[in-house]
Amino acid sequence: MKILIDLLKLRQLKDCKIEAVDTKLQANGAFKTIRELATFRYTCRKCEDAPCITACPAEALEKDDNGMLNRAINLCIRCKSCVAICPFGTIMNDLFETKTSGYNYLDLSDEEEMKRFADAFPDEMVQIVEKDADKEENIFELTDKILVREFAWDH
Ligand code: SF4
Ligand code: SF4
Repeated sequence: MKILIDLLKLRQLKDCKIEAVDTKLQANGAFKTIRELATFRYTCRKCEDAPCITACPAEALEKDDNGMLNRAINLCIRCKSCVAICPFGTIMNDLFETKTSGYNYLDLSDEEEMKRFADAFPDEMVQIVEKDADKEENIFELTDKILVREFAWDH
């Protein structure tokens, strides 16, 4: 049993009210939303001279050895310069906003919790599935429990 997050549908929302943090998934020691990790991994074009990094006034963005962006949560001042300058619209306007509620700290070993989370989204934006990654369907693996659907850039 896995959770499938449809980034193509989620992008149609102006403001994603519900975010999820996988309690077992950390990036550089910090908890990130699943949407941020999935966006940087699969949506971002990994520009060679990344304008988002240059535009960031807080030096909060850097690339790892695989060219994948990482945002230092403690440095980011949420100015949205990176949102404005990205030529591909990769970073959604609300992606880095601090939400006072709406975060779900998901334990993906708890099937009932996964179902409740999926049910909170309309239009099958998040689904519970029994399948594996399938490039033909634009479905890729973020973790062994999380699949994302996206027109992935380099996969
Ligand atoms: S929103 Fe954060 S990561 Fe983006 S440019 Fe501003 S400080 Fe940098
Ligand atoms: S400018 Fe946009 S596509 Fe390019 S690296 Fe930055 S976020 Fe990714």
